[in-house]
Amino acid sequence: MPTPPVSVSPEDETNKFLKENRVAVFSKSYCPFCEQVKDLLRTHRIPYSALELDLIDNGPAVQTILFERTGQKSVPNVFINGRHLGGCDKTVEAHADGTLQAMLNAGSGDAQYDYDLAVIGGGSGGLACSKEAARLGARVVICDFVKPSPKGTTWGLGGTCVNVGCIPKKLMHQTSLLGEACSDASKFGWSVTESPQHSWEKMVKGIQGHISSLNWGYRVQLRERHVTYMNAYAEFVDAHTLRTVDKKGRERLISARNVVLAMGGRPRIPDIPGAELGISSDDLFSLPRSPGRTLVVGASYIALECAGFLRGLGLPVTVMVRSILLRGFDQQMAELVGEHLAQRGVRFLRPCVPTRLERVEPDEEEEADAAETRPSIRVTAQMEDGTTLVAEYDTVLFATGRRACTAGIGLEKIGVRLSPKDGKVMCNEAEQTSVEHVYAVGDILSGHPELTPVAIQAGRQLARRLVTGATALTDYQYIPTTVFTPAEYGCVGLSEEAAVERYGEHDIEVFHQYFTPLELTVPQRDENASYGKLICVKSQRQRVVGFHLVAPHAGEVTQGFAVALRLGATKADLDASVGIHPTVAEQFTFMFITKASGANSKSTGC
Ligand code: FAD
Ligand code: NDP
Repeated sequence: MPTPPVSVSPEDETNKFLKENRVAVFSKSYCPFCEQVKDLLRTHRIPYSALELDLIDNGPAVQTILFERTGQKSVPNVFINGRHLGGCDKTVEAHADGTLQAMLNAGSGDAQYDYDLAVIGGGSGGLACSKEAARLGARVVICDFVKPSPKGTTWGLGGTCVNVGCIPKKLMHQTSLLGEACSDASKFGWSVTESPQHSWEKMVKGIQGHISSLNWGYRVQLRERHVTYMNAYAEFVDAHTLRTVDKKGRERLISARNVVLAMGGRPRIPDIPGAELGISSDDLFSLPRSPGRTLVVGASYIALECAGFLRGLGLPVTVMVRSILLRGFDQQMAELVGEHLAQRGVRFLRPCVPTRLERVEPDEEEEADAAETRPSIRVTAQMEDGTTLVAEYDTVLFATGRRACTAGIGLEKIGVRLSPKDGKVMCNEAEQTSVEHVYAVGDILSGHPELTPVAIQAGRQLARRLVTGATALTDYQYIPTTVFTPAEYGCVGLSEEAAVERYGEHDIEVFHQYFTPLELTVPQRDENASYGKLICVKSQRQRVVGFHLVAPHAGEVTQGFAVALRLGATKADLDASVGIHPTVAEQFTFMFITKASGANSKSTGC
């Protein structure tokens, strides 16, 4: 008697086809797009198998399963090593940009590891690296875990920039600019009937709402790219194995052929009595109520930016400066930023360091009078000349630098070399550590700027090198940056000090100009307080090696000039460029006064 045919479920049929074929094409025999894909594969000698859904009984059911799994209804539906690629256009595109080959290569890797790539840290660098590696076909896992700040603040996926860095900072900067715009408005004829009042609580709610949507967006992106996301803390067991622990204490071991370190940094707090009474930028952006009278300790990016927007919200702000403003930046520009802050009412104590913080409880009488009372913080500080200062504040914000999160995860055990100076990871120009298959990107990388776009660029380039064998390296030269103080300071290239050191004073020409942006003329604000400076090398046809600008929207302006400097623009190139009038940026197309001439660089007209 003949044996009855074994019926195969559509589910099994789909899985079997995917499992057995490196390149699996779900197709229909009459479909011209399916034929185009098969032709492409044949032409490029890529072995494939096609399952013609119109010729099998289970065809419609298999198509439904594919739709449920991939969201794609149509054929061809192409899979490489079991991973969904897409339809005809996607396949042609992936073949053209190398993704298809990368997916084939990735699948031919070692089955001895759970993943091709494990990324530790779900911030700017780690997310960029993991998403790109997965797009190119690698099997990727990313571990991200936020240890609460000493004040108990914690946050979601996305790292520093999204949760406690660039994003909330820029939105608070914008809040403060809006306050300034309100007071300018009356000079332009608006009747602002009541003096504008600001609600800290409302601002924080709006900003935190936006951040939550970004956190969610990152999770969705990881899922769409088939990156395995683990909300868990990772540490090395051996060079290819990580132990991960989630917030419930559940442990898992995972192995990976390559590991990318992207753990970022956390605030460093001075070791002085009472330091625990202060907060850091990790806590500021989600504070449930206004920080009130604030002492900012530190004088770099974070300190000055926070001081700027807090003052813009109308709070009394003091900045305690240990030595200089904005170390590493052009010092003429740094002082200009300081002057702008001082004009807006920020008080500077310099040079000065805090030595003790103490809690001061409100007295009973005060408590009965005030609708809302809180303990204040008495700060004792030491000026450089030996004078002792004592003052009270509602909040002390430590913006005294950041330490890389490289301790306690077994890096030394597996042989990853850390810088003795700052504990950051030492890498070669390909972001490879002293252990061949371990790499690092972002803020933990020694000797490179701590900026989001730098981490993203390095993460993406590294993923391409790891998965496709690409060779392009991240170029860490001519990285633009902006300090988002009320008058923004944007720059790219060398400071005047660094240019003199590199080329010698005799070979440097500095062109500069003070000016008043048109929008500030009617409100009579900041007259001649905006300032631009170009630093050129005489012996290189006046090549521009430094661009500096203190002005409204300096960040937007600087981005474009960064491209020009990268391309080797000379002063003559800028002179030959036609400006856009009336803008801040046009200043750089007619900057003719040299510093050496001593001529007046204040502007007098249009
Ligand atoms: P991060 O974004 O810090 O991400 C690292 C992640 O890894 C974190 O989520 C961390 O919790 C997690 N992690 C650490 N250890 C482990 C572990 N063992 N296991 C699992 N997870 C771990 N840059 C700009 O370009 N522009 C700006 O305007 C700007 N403003 C800033 C303002 C502030 C207040 C601050 C603090 C920074 C600002 N930066 C800005 C810098 C920018 O935020 C960082 O350069 C960037 O976030 C670095 O990205 P990263 O991937 O290296 O690390
Ligand atoms: P920095 O390391 O740049 O500066 C630390 C500041 O704190 C310095 O002014 C330092 O003074 C001071 N300081 C350190 N220790 C003490 C102490 N014990 N007592 C008093 N003062 C002290 O750190 P930031 O935290 O400002 O920024 C970290 C990084 O984050 C930046 O380098 C930047 O790359 C990134 N960032 C980028 C932003 C942007 O792009 N707009 C904005 C914010 C941050 P001294 O000079 O004397 O050492």
